[in-house]
Amino acid sequence: MSDEVTYDNAATAEVIKGHPRDDVSDAPILQDGLGCHSGSEMEKAARLSGNSEILDQFAKDYPQGPHDKPQSMCPAFGSLRVGLRMRRVATVLSGSACCVYGLTFVSHFYGARRSVGYVPFNSETLVTGKLFEDIRDSVHELADPDKYDAIVVTNLCVPTASGVPLRLLPDQINGVRIVGIDVPGFGIPTHAEAKDVLAGAMLNYARQEIKAGPVAAPIGGKSDRPTVTLLGEMFPADPMMIGAMLAPLGLAAGPVVPAREWRELYAALDCGAVAAIHPFYTASVREFEAAGRPVIGSAPVGHDGTAAWLKNIGDAFGLGSDQVAAAQNAFLPAIKASLANAPVKGRITLSGYEGSELLVARLLIESGAEIPYVGTACPKTPWSAADADWLKSKGTEVKFRASLEDDCAAMEAFEPDLAIGTTPVVQKAKELAIPGLYFTNLISARPLMGPAGAGSLAEVVNAAIAGRARMDKMRDFFEGVGTGDSAGIWEGSPNLRPDFRAVHQKKLDKAARAAKAQEMI
Ligand code: SF4
Repeated sequence: MSDEVTYDNAATAEVIKGHPRDDVSDAPILQDGLGCHSGSEMEKAARLSGNSEILDQFAKDYPQGPHDKPQSMCPAFGSLRVGLRMRRVATVLSGSACCVYGLTFVSHFYGARRSVGYVPFNSETLVTGKLFEDIRDSVHELADPDKYDAIVVTNLCVPTASGVPLRLLPDQINGVRIVGIDVPGFGIPTHAEAKDVLAGAMLNYARQEIKAGPVAAPIGGKSDRPTVTLLGEMFPADPMMIGAMLAPLGLAAGPVVPAREWRELYAALDCGAVAAIHPFYTASVREFEAAGRPVIGSAPVGHDGTAAWLKNIGDAFGLGSDQVAAAQNAFLPAIKASLANAPVKGRITLSGYEGSELLVARLLIESGAEIPYVGTACPKTPWSAADADWLKSKGTEVKFRASLEDDCAAMEAFEPDLAIGTTPVVQKAKELAIPGLYFTNLISARPLMGPAGAGSLAEVVNAAIAGRARMDKMRDFFEGVGTGDSAGIWEGSPNLRPDFRAVHQKKLDKAARAAKAQEMI
């Protein structure tokens, strides 16, 4: 016995040591510390749990970029938002509490006026399959046909990796449709594409219903003209503008997908053609093609974009060239005049994850801006090919699946008068005294289509470019407050230790060399 003076006898308590469990060695997902940044481990676990088919389909639909983990917010936010925006649709999440906390926080931050259902789990309910039973119980409890048309159940990363089989849920309970989807961050690179996962699943469900028998008509009645379904979430005035441009062709704008209520899905499938205004809806396009609907890429933005789009719509419906020319003549002069009346002068780099980046760049170039770089987190698809070609013909570098590093490097290299981008890009730009605009808040919240879109960006863009002097003033004001590890409030000078840093760097270099040598073996 030592003569150490202690507060109590806790130090003498026997320490119980655990031992590793062999039976979970095939399920790396149950180990601690796996999350968004554990892509390959999660994927391995999901494949071991029998989810290979889903992951292979994701890999085809949403090819990965230079990184295998999300660089923006949790991808599941995309599908969550689509479900929350639909009338008479309930949403249930199954995932880690921290993920669900973040997702519900962001959805309420963005104005969801609805509760998000959550089925919690622990290692035991996950491993024994009880979690699936809990999910099934929760949908049975929720399935009230007076309140809901459908319930969307979403598996987040951990339940997907553990193979919680949502496909075994009943298709419907008391007439309430049950739609189960897996939206893992390790299979779906952006929240834009997660919107497609849910939209595609709902279209698939609605298509099976149509095949099985008569379905509900649209609330506003059926259009007497053939319709064009619009794929992609747009500024509310844009579908109206598109409708006005389709009228001289004897056509009407159909519903927008992602839809706002279930029966719109039937009307969306009942169209003459689909306009993939946003180009990343691969699974949804598959459903429309299965229903025999032609799909048209790009969008009626600016002069050239509108001219080409109207022609493509005319071709899809087999309309005469006179009719197409009449529609073009009705709108193109007005678009040209609006663009001329609202010129944009300056060099702009543009990046985002909404899917409309290429369209916005087209509009800005036609307004007179110089755009050396456009980065989009979305992948290259056939429906953005015409936009990419047009931009390349104007000397713009188009980067699909652009990473944050790509966007920042472009901004630093081109030294633009304005950087339009995501939050970290704009933050970086402001540090460099380059004016910045958030794509999502300030650009997506404006009309882009037809005459209403032409010139709509000039005001906000020109005001931002004109603010350069203010940015310089701010940089000068904050100059010297420190950056990186010397940022913040210090009573004296920050304790910089370049010698420690050099020693640590040496260690890192050594470890990197060792890893490289290991690779060769
Ligand atoms: S569900 Fe979203 S937040 Fe949670 S680990 Fe997956 S990607 Fe990350």
